[in-house]
Amino acid sequence: METARGKLGTVADYFGVFGGRFVGETLRPALDQLEEEFALAWADPVFREELDAAGKTFVGRPTPLLYAGNATRAQGGAKIYVKLEGLAQTGAHKINNAMGQALLAKRLGKKRVIAETGAGQHGLASAAACARLGLSCRVYMGSLDMARQHPNVFAMEMLGAEVIPVETGSRTLKDAINAALRDWSANYPGTHYLIGSALGPSPFPEMVRRFQSVVGEETRAQMRETGADFAALVACVGGGSNAIGFFSPFLDQPLPRLIGVEAGGRGDGPGDNAVRMAGAVSRIGVAHGYKSRFLMNGDGQLMPTHSISAGLDYPGIGPQLASLGDSGRLEFTSASDGEALDALRFFARNEGIIFALESAHAAAAALRLARELDPGRALAVNMSGRGDKDIFITAKALDRDNWLSFLESEIAHA
Ligand SMILES: *Cc1c(COP(=O)(O)O)cnc(C)c1O
Repeated sequence: METARGKLGTVADYFGVFGGRFVGETLRPALDQLEEEFALAWADPVFREELDAAGKTFVGRPTPLLYAGNATRAQGGAKIYVKLEGLAQTGAHKINNAMGQALLAKRLGKKRVIAETGAGQHGLASAAACARLGLSCRVYMGSLDMARQHPNVFAMEMLGAEVIPVETGSRTLKDAINAALRDWSANYPGTHYLIGSALGPSPFPEMVRRFQSVVGEETRAQMRETGADFAALVACVGGGSNAIGFFSPFLDQPLPRLIGVEAGGRGDGPGDNAVRMAGAVSRIGVAHGYKSRFLMNGDGQLMPTHSISAGLDYPGIGPQLASLGDSGRLEFTSASDGEALDALRFFARNEGIIFALESAHAAAAALRLARELDPGRALAVNMSGRGDKDIFITAKALDRDNWLSFLESEIAHA
């Protein structure tokens, strides 16, 4: 039988030496089916119209490209533009992928969706998409992450999702991914696994890139309307879904410069950051079903990481980004916890926009770059999310005493 891949020739599985499908036999039928069905759906105008309609009426597309004129004047150098992806439903780009995959699950007649989540943002987007489409949603979340990110647990449950604590390993995101993969291999005929970033076994990296490419397509058209001369695009990189979506339309051309920003955390020491590409310590290895660069030890164990932003501390990186870094099309740099907080404050005061802590890493790198570039040029930074979700972290970091006395008074009056 001719497969969808053979017929449509569309779903990439390797990116240079990275990517692939490193899974046990039990998961192969699920991935084969997903690859075939995704290729068919993507080629079907009815599915694409449904996706566009959901984008317009539910997600909030298109999101604006803001000229940050005050920030540009205060900073000096190239014009700074900000893609306001944080205006999307549930506050970040994650909903583009969650809605796309939920629509695919529905098309396949799968009534049950499972997802992993770290900080809860992907769980939130999945729960919202499933509520909207009438699908049942189970979110696996490390029990340590559940304790650290409780507001998102409340929000997911409010949206009707069931949040399952994962008690294995370090009780964080990587353990939640393993739990979700186990569930899927046992239940795939009626269940879709809605993965949250451009990683995992094929076809996930390529599928997630396509669902996120709407961010880059809109930005490219909006850039043309400005008439400005764009030297660079800047995005933060956790697993890599907002970056690959933002950069996607520009990959086949040499310019503009495409710059990925990793979490520099609290320093250069092991466990103090999540720098996989901009530094020299990551290794090529296999985890979570795909080959890429990981922060792992010589035995293949993933290493602990740190970032002030919950979404940038994954120890791996999507395979296409790893490949584009090695080929030189993408540049990588990092921003520290402190630089991200400074950039967050700078844009809040100058432009009235509050970046998510993840996106604030891209903002910090964009400010550095703007200073180096000629004022006749421009750059665009992706605000992958807005900062409301970070109030428990930013208030403590920026205004500790007042925040703690607020929490104490809440408890006293509870
Ligand atoms: C989850 C998240 C990220 C990191 O994920 P990517 O897949 O690298 O995009 C970045 N920004 C925000 C706002 C997030 O919620």
